[in-house]
Amino acid sequence: MPLHIAIAGAGIGGLAAAAFLTRDGHHVTLFERFAAPRPLGAGLMLQPTGLACLAQLGLDRAAIAQGEVIARLWGETVSGKRIFDVAYGEIGPKVFGLAMHRATLFGILYGDVVRLGVPMVPATEIAASRLDVDKRLLIDTNGREHGPFDLVIDGTGMRSTLRRSEMRLAYDAPCRYGAIWGIVAEPAGWPHRGELRQRYDGCHVMIGILPVGHAPGDERRLTALFWSLRVADYAAWREAGLEAWKARVIGLWPAAAPFVEQIKSPDEMTLAAYADTGLRQPYGERIVCLGDAARSTSPQLGQGANLALIDAATLSACLREQADVATALATYAIQRRAHTRFYAIASRWLTPFFQSDSRSAALLRDLTFPLMGHVPYLRREMVRTLSGMKTGLFSHLDPGQWHPDYALAGPALSSQPA
Ligand SMILES: Cc1cc2nc3c(=O)[nH]c(=O)nc-3n(C[C@H](O)[C@H](O)[C@H](O)COP(=O)(O)OP(=O)(O)OC[C@H]3O[C@@H](n4cnc5c(N)ncnc54)[C@H](O)[C@@H]3O)c2cc1C
Repeated sequence: MPLHIAIAGAGIGGLAAAAFLTRDGHHVTLFERFAAPRPLGAGLMLQPTGLACLAQLGLDRAAIAQGEVIARLWGETVSGKRIFDVAYGEIGPKVFGLAMHRATLFGILYGDVVRLGVPMVPATEIAASRLDVDKRLLIDTNGREHGPFDLVIDGTGMRSTLRRSEMRLAYDAPCRYGAIWGIVAEPAGWPHRGELRQRYDGCHVMIGILPVGHAPGDERRLTALFWSLRVADYAAWREAGLEAWKARVIGLWPAAAPFVEQIKSPDEMTLAAYADTGLRQPYGERIVCLGDAARSTSPQLGQGANLALIDAATLSACLREQADVATALATYAIQRRAHTRFYAIASRWLTPFFQSDSRSAALLRDLTFPLMGHVPYLRREMVRTLSGMKTGLFSHLDPGQWHPDYALAGPALSSQPA
């Protein structure tokens, strides 16, 4: 039976959920705090898991056409020592990542939701909800109530206030390190297309170059440039001046000069701060969380948007297959548990090796990571981890469960790299 569903938050998870649930015949209304929904941030990477979910919506080809297919991830120290060099192709000829400008992914999902005619309520910040017999109402920050709805989906991200009354946080720890991100044009002759490249000095410096393809209305090939930074040092970074920072980046990584020289104002580098958050369980009566509202991690493994897309696909399948809302939400929580727990733990475990002040972590990383790269089993596990496929230390999933084009076995997509 079609349900009346409210989704708070028109981010990646909220938009994807609106697209899935509207296709299933439900009556969806989207609430967004901004007057016009918009993406925040610079670039991100979609993994085969997230791409398979986009494929269920018929949107993966548009994403591939506009993004940058990533075949390899490369990390090295400032002295040029290779820390990792992993190729998606290690686990299957058709496995690849897709780097995108956030605005591009957002535009693809938003365009789909507009085409489907999903009603949107902009400029409405949702603060809470309340149960009214067997329905749920949303309450905005002006005290206005919206609804009633059969189900409320919280897609308002890691700082959700909506979930507070119904769900309890299991942990909530701000990450000491964040990163500043900017988008620049790919310089002519850049030899590392199709690769995410990072350079480290200890664990306190990480510079990244991620080709992201095209942004809406921009013909240039673009690149996301990021620089790891302690959140508490952001004001000092601005104060020290852009030129000092540029000189430092170029000193540590001369090849980054044509990227960093394009930055003309500190405002072109946006600070992203992260937190490790998780819920005891991601649902309550007629309310459920997805994406960052359900859990958030440091983006070291680049999984957050993928997890949000999988959440949306799984939730819609549970509502389709289960007899009632309560059973569907409980099933959704069970189905998402192992996968999201693995990435929460793996991100927490890995982040200090790339973003911390620890000298011993740097030493250990520089000694052990290159060795791990020589063991084929461990290399494959590294790729599976990056590809968003791990569900436990010795288990993994196949993205083919969401769409046959992304099944590990089978013919390759025509538009992926050779
Ligand atoms: C620097 C950085 C790099 C990242 N890189 C990657 C990557 O490479 N790959 C990857 O998969 N993930 C990456 N992530 C993580 C990814 O961006 C998030 O996990 C993903 O955006 C979560 O989607 P979401 O829909 O849950 O939340 P969001 O995208 O945060 O969307 C939340 C939406 O809710 C709206 N909202 C918030 N509060 C309210 C309210 N009270 N009422 C109404 N609306 C509200 C917001 O305006 C927004 O539109 C990265 C994150 C960061 C910070």
